[in-house]
Amino acid sequence: MSDILPTHPRAESLRIRERLADGFRAGLVAPEGLAAHGRGEAFDYILGEQTTVQARRAVEAAVAMLLSARRPVISVNGNVAALVPSEVVRLARAVDAALEVNLFHSSAEREEAIAGHLREHGAERVLGVEPKFSIQISEVHSNRRKVDRRGIAAADVVLVPLEDGDRTEALKKLGKGLIAIDLNPMSRTAQAADITIVDNIVRALPLMVKTAERLSRKSRVELRKILKSFDNSANLRATLGFMFERLERLSRG
Ligand code: ATP
Ligand code: MG
Repeated sequence: MSDILPTHPRAESLRIRERLADGFRAGLVAPEGLAAHGRGEAFDYILGEQTTVQARRAVEAAVAMLLSARRPVISVNGNVAALVPSEVVRLARAVDAALEVNLFHSSAEREEAIAGHLREHGAERVLGVEPKFSIQISEVHSNRRKVDRRGIAAADVVLVPLEDGDRTEALKKLGKGLIAIDLNPMSRTAQAADITIVDNIVRALPLMVKTAERLSRKSRVELRKILKSFDNSANLRATLGFMFERLERLSRG
């Protein structure tokens, strides 16, 4: 049971940690996932645990890309399932994307647990759990080279929240349009993606759902305009600038 005081300065961050620890105990999250979260937290601290203007712009472009895609897929790992299960299901529905369980530290039990968890949160169809549909992408030198033939393998756009750099780069080589959610603007994933949302997934996902509801009323031409006016490198540089200014302000006292 939680005994986090609401007045604690890091109350929200501690609640998120607790959700992840619960996910670990439920067999959704890998021990390495707990460590990866810590890396993210450090960057979130620098951001001031808030969604920046740059992240909002990236969300807008990401949703436009998902809505314009022919076969969009959202890749789900243990951390995503533990932190934002309802939101990821809602986003998939709002942009008509498939959900695929895809794990760096592959394990059939954890795949099943994650798929079950998503179903409990309303997912009708979850890819990535039936061995008969799985194929290997030779470009990826990790367990996560296994993808679903009906999902990531055939996708034109893939949303990879909290992804490892090797895999993002490999998917890029396969010609996929890539959207990343990553608190570290310097990670290889953040640098390799076409659109990088530098924000905590717990804030980014609900914003994406809301944005999808709004943008789904727009025409293809309007969506293309949003996409064309977005520059990922410039946006990442602006995010780093934001972080730098915050640190500079703190260092001045
Ligand atoms: P890369 O492999 O892309 O160079 P990395 O090796 O530093 O990055 P990984 O452990 O491979 O990092 O991937 C985890 C990434 O997910 C980290 O960059 C971390 O900042 C990010 N991350 C962790 N938790 C969250 C979260 N809740 N929201 C957004 N990003 C997160
Ligand atoms: Mg990595």
